[in-house]
Amino acid sequence: MGPREFPLESDEDLTILSGILRLATKYGAKHMRDNALQVLRRKFPSSLSDWDSLAENARFRWTCDPIPVINLVREVSAFSPMPAAMAFLTNNSSAGEVFAVQVHEGTGQRSSLHKLRASEDIKGFALMKEYDHASVVKMINFIREVGSNCKQPPEPESRPNGMSPVGTLRHEFRASICSGIFHEVADNLALKFMMREDPMGYRDFGMMVLQDVMSQRRPICRRCRVSFKTGYVEHRDSWWNGIPHILGLPDLRGWGEDHT
Ligand SMILES: [Zn+2]
Repeated sequence: MGPREFPLESDEDLTILSGILRLATKYGAKHMRDNALQVLRRKFPSSLSDWDSLAENARFRWTCDPIPVINLVREVSAFSPMPAAMAFLTNNSSAGEVFAVQVHEGTGQRSSLHKLRASEDIKGFALMKEYDHASVVKMINFIREVGSNCKQPPEPESRPNGMSPVGTLRHEFRASICSGIFHEVADNLALKFMMREDPMGYRDFGMMVLQDVMSQRRPICRRCRVSFKTGYVEHRDSWWNGIPHILGLPDLRGWGEDHT
């Protein structure tokens, strides 16, 4: 069975796949090992765009717990699924949940069967939490600066005829409106982020950013929209590409292949 047909849609599938990966590693079967890793990367992909499409389609599907996967790839020293698995874990679980400590009343519970085993990975998880936090702050600071040099008048709002008297709204907008909007969005995001008891991961924060900017009813000029989108993508890419370094992993050659 090739890697494309191998299912990874249940805990049983993961157990079987883990067995294959361990055996392939033990007997030096490189092709089989690469195939097994390729299956794992379907759930823990090497590119951020793959994670985005995975998350969009995942709502009603089985989700793979990243902890057994982290323990597995550590055990067999095959690290290509590790950055995504650690990013998933950091995004979806609080430290209290992962280490089974009730930090506050709403601390989530997870199965005690699944604990991070290697000390490198416990350290990696703590570092990832800090990395996510610092990356969120960077994103907020970036958003606050969007539009600060804006001299463009906003695009006219397309309103159905008769909703407001002609000209009234357009006169109120000045060139600096974009800057005001992004300042306000940044401050609201910072407040929402700070007021959570369970910290929010970088990916979920990114989704909240998009939602807040897209739901703005006031007009943002084209140039500021483009500069927001460009910077948003750059910030996320740089966060994603920095994960192997944070985890102290060897060069992963684009995360697609493993050193053996
Ligand atoms: Zn603007």
